[in-house]
Amino acid sequence: MIVVMEPNATDAQVEKVTKYLEKHGFRVNINYGDILKVIAAIGDKRILSPQIIASFEGVKTVKQIQEPYKLAGRTAHPEDTIIKFNNGVKIGGKEKPVLMVGPCSVEKDIKSLLEIANAAKEMGCEFLRGGAFKPRTSPYDFQGLEERGLEFLAEARKQTGLLVVTEVMDTMDIPLVNQYADILQVGARNMQNFKLLKALGHIKKPVMLKRGPAASIKEFLLAAEHIMYNGNPNVILCERGIKGYDNDFSRNTLDIAAVPILRKYSHLPVIVDPSHGTGRRYLIEPMGKAALIAGAHGLMYEIHNDPDNASSDGAQSLDLNMFRDVTKRFNKLIGRIDYDNKNGI
Ligand code: PEP
Ligand code: MN
Repeated sequence: MIVVMEPNATDAQVEKVTKYLEKHGFRVNINYGDILKVIAAIGDKRILSPQIIASFEGVKTVKQIQEPYKLAGRTAHPEDTIIKFNNGVKIGGKEKPVLMVGPCSVEKDIKSLLEIANAAKEMGCEFLRGGAFKPRTSPYDFQGLEERGLEFLAEARKQTGLLVVTEVMDTMDIPLVNQYADILQVGARNMQNFKLLKALGHIKKPVMLKRGPAASIKEFLLAAEHIMYNGNPNVILCERGIKGYDNDFSRNTLDIAAVPILRKYSHLPVIVDPSHGTGRRYLIEPMGKAALIAGAHGLMYEIHNDPDNASSDGAQSLDLNMFRDVTKRFNKLIGRIDYDNKNGI
């Protein structure tokens, strides 16, 4: 870290900072300019908060040089993480982007889920995604079928061979969800549920972490760091939009720039969710294409056999005819992407 002292900082103040840093294992170098004194400190920042140094008398600013997300960041892990599944599907690096689709919630009629799953299979999607545990803003809304929903997903997987992505909301439910899911999803609202992240560090299956509605990229990567630090390196990042100020036209602001940013600073795979990212079904196609061109390793979007009567998120779900049309065009675009070019097509 770099500590810039105030122009009028006393020698005693400089010495106090220097001693403190040395005590915490930093190698310190003091540079005396005409006006400012700058202390360059090399060591492991994780054991020392820059804020504490910034609070010392005579300190002007403290700049952290090293990224705090050591495991999720690219510096110490330059090669892309590629997550592999038993059926040969891979996510990340230069692999062909994957498609994850399904209803927002698994609903009580398994026939609908099977119809959706068969359409997904027919269009070449790799993952069936549906929520059995639903984080709903209102307690009066459909809360999910829980274990029965997981059983339906497992049946759909058995019939189609699709891999299953489903959300886990509580540490208590991890053993159950882990039995059924191929990827465990952490919802946006739980991105900073540190107990949940820590517990997911103790399983081996991949975890798809959705970006919090108001999370910075740094907070997002630090949330991933929690899972990795606790032992699970199989983390997939999912950009799903952040809170904007214009709710008249879209539900969230989908941060497409987050894709190349995350790919530049992290080695983890990045998925984009244009359904929750926009809240409007007509925006799934343009934003999905934008995300693929920006370098996303896959898309997750909501589809339903009867969106007008869906238990949740019908407005951002494609019906099955639209799904086939839109997915045909995604597949065409995916076939044209130059995977060696980090900047897209
Ligand atoms: C979801 O993926 O079903 C969901 C609830 O999304 P988010 O957590 O991004 O709001
Ligand atoms: Mn949803």
